[in-house]
Amino acid sequence: MSRISRRDFVARSGTCAAHLALAAAVAPDALRAAWAQTPLGTVVAREPFGSLEQVADGIWALISTPLGGDRTTLSNGGIIAGHSGVVAIEGFNQPAGAAWLGAKARELTGRWPTHVVVTHYHADHANGVAGYLSTDATNGKPAVRTTERTRELVLQRNQPTDDARTAALQQTVLVPTSGETTIDLGNRRVRVVPRLGHTDSDLSLEVDDPSVVFCGDLVWNAMFPNYVDAIPSKLSASVNALRRDRSTVYVPGHGALARQPEFDRYVAVLSEVERAARKAHDAGTSAADAGNAFTLPASLGEWTLFNKVFFERAFSAWYRELGG
Ligand SMILES: [Zn+2]
Repeated sequence: MSRISRRDFVARSGTCAAHLALAAAVAPDALRAAWAQTPLGTVVAREPFGSLEQVADGIWALISTPLGGDRTTLSNGGIIAGHSGVVAIEGFNQPAGAAWLGAKARELTGRWPTHVVVTHYHADHANGVAGYLSTDATNGKPAVRTTERTRELVLQRNQPTDDARTAALQQTVLVPTSGETTIDLGNRRVRVVPRLGHTDSDLSLEVDDPSVVFCGDLVWNAMFPNYVDAIPSKLSASVNALRRDRSTVYVPGHGALARQPEFDRYVAVLSEVERAARKAHDAGTSAADAGNAFTLPASLGEWTLFNKVFFERAFSAWYRELGG
């Protein structure tokens, strides 16, 4: 961090992709190892950028391991297959990431993805989406599904600009935000649920039986979340709505697969941030000072945090909501 001024750092690290790139640059080896902790699912493919884990019959999660420095994928994502179609989740950081997942879908299910869903606009989830529309898409090119707001934000903000991505997004099937929609895969239904809080437009993909939830960046596991666009009260409400009271696999946006204990630990982290932010706000402490003074209680375990600015960013998000 020493050669990057704090202000430059804040400006450069707005997106989750930058957040992770910086993390990779400074992560000690022990943390890199912890990131790739023992998988919860059965690993069916392992690459420098991540592992594909089978979490249920016909459902796989790509758990990215970005701290090794390979940026093909930075976020998690996955595949949900049914008799009549295959859903690919996330566009990843680079087209090569999406093309890789498409090829894995064909290898595992006999089909290239028929549906692609992007959960939110951040570059590490959206920038590679054109990779699904490559010439390898032998059974027809899938339409990209996301919300109108997400499409707008990708087109406005994401760098570098990319004509193939723009073209892919021009054919987006817009997901309504008035209520959930269903992708019918024959023997299986995937609920696509509009939510918000990590950004002002997020999607979760939810399967009821078996109970599997692709959370997008509403949930992070063992890495402190990026609040750059967060609306923290909405984030908490969305996370509470994602929680199930039966045995469930949660696929977070970043970090290893989660079960209930990991999910609840994340909820506790959000609560701890809220408690401290409200207290500091009441006391008139600046977000920078409050972030600088903040630590997570040891009882919440190891959370990868690479610079105090990530705490400051969380406090700033709360201060936006609390006013003043
Ligand atoms: Zn994000």
